[in-house]
Amino acid sequence: MAQTSAAAPFERSGINLPKIRHVRATVVRGGGGDYHDQAGGHWIDDHVSTPMAKYPEYRASRQSFGLNVLGTLVVEVEADDGTIGFGVTTGGDPAAWIVERHLARFLEGAAVTDYERIWDQMYLGSIFYGRKGLVVNAISGVDLAVWDLLGRLRGEPVYHLLGGAVRDEQPFYATGARPDLAKGMGFIGGKLPLHHGPAEREEGLNANIALLADMRAKVGDDFWLMYDCWMSLDLNYATRLALKAAPYGLKWIEEALLPDDYWGYADLRRAVPPGMMVTTGEHESTRWGFRMLLEMGCADIIQPDVGWCGGITELLKISALADARGVLVVPHASSVYSYHFVITRHNSPFAEFLMMAPKADEVVPMLNPLLLDEPLPVNGRLKVPDRPGFGVRLNPACERLRPYTH
Ligand SMILES: [Mg+2]
Repeated sequence: MAQTSAAAPFERSGINLPKIRHVRATVVRGGGGDYHDQAGGHWIDDHVSTPMAKYPEYRASRQSFGLNVLGTLVVEVEADDGTIGFGVTTGGDPAAWIVERHLARFLEGAAVTDYERIWDQMYLGSIFYGRKGLVVNAISGVDLAVWDLLGRLRGEPVYHLLGGAVRDEQPFYATGARPDLAKGMGFIGGKLPLHHGPAEREEGLNANIALLADMRAKVGDDFWLMYDCWMSLDLNYATRLALKAAPYGLKWIEEALLPDDYWGYADLRRAVPPGMMVTTGEHESTRWGFRMLLEMGCADIIQPDVGWCGGITELLKISALADARGVLVVPHASSVYSYHFVITRHNSPFAEFLMMAPKADEVVPMLNPLLLDEPLPVNGRLKVPDRPGFGVRLNPACERLRPYTH
């Protein structure tokens, strides 16, 4: 009779990982996870068209209506052996309260491998005041920290845990005010912020087209050019912008309408010239929100933000829904949190790089100055580093406040 081995044949490696001991939330001001928390003179706050631009007093600056009020949320999840995983997103003080006073209970004492159960309890436990927005930002930050901790405990980069790389390098397009300079840096395209919305009438529309025409003349025919409209248009204006932009080869029109206007997006997608794409989703969240976008035919590319849509655990589900429909997933910004996901997915063939230099004239770390070891694209491409977790560290020079404790 064969001897049975002392070790169980189906013993899983994760079964011996230390458990989660403690969850902490801290807040950082100035850059970091809150891209909009920048000093004056930055392109990201230079008369960008917004839904608030119909009020003249809030037209020149997004900070004027409070876009930078939240600041950065850092979530740390500590294991019994002292290993710490962390996640970074937007959410500031109110998200820190939610993490410390509410969500932490679903993690402490749990196995770090239980990210599905943890996510489900965070979402269902906060459903009476959550579902979208700030609460899902907080859930996302916790989820990113759990994946970071799991990678660190296993000694593997997160992208290994998500199925491994499907390509050697990730190509990027650049978002910022200077696509002409981005072309020289090796990016495959450039996405401009739209400056004028419906309140600035035909003069504004003509100025939008003039800027696009100027950039097209500078970058030549084959470089991608896109317009990010940051939810600021109505269906008629967006349609007219798309028609006037078509001769200048606009590749896609992004987030033209309010996130809740699924019907408008479906109409816009039918109205744009053949070959021009409609994209949206950076302010959408969870599988249910993206199911609406997908089933109503709202977009050719969805752009979930992994720090806002529910984290990696939820992005896996959103991406699978899109893949089955032949829709690309090109996550919004988010640096390493996007890179480790995108490199593992066939339907994410390129990624976004947010040009955070004030004049968009050089490649600088996206979450500057919060992270150390943040990888940067070279010639518009990046190989995801093989360091454990998301492969970055918190910069000790950034002051982190802990406004609430549990
Ligand atoms: Mg956008």
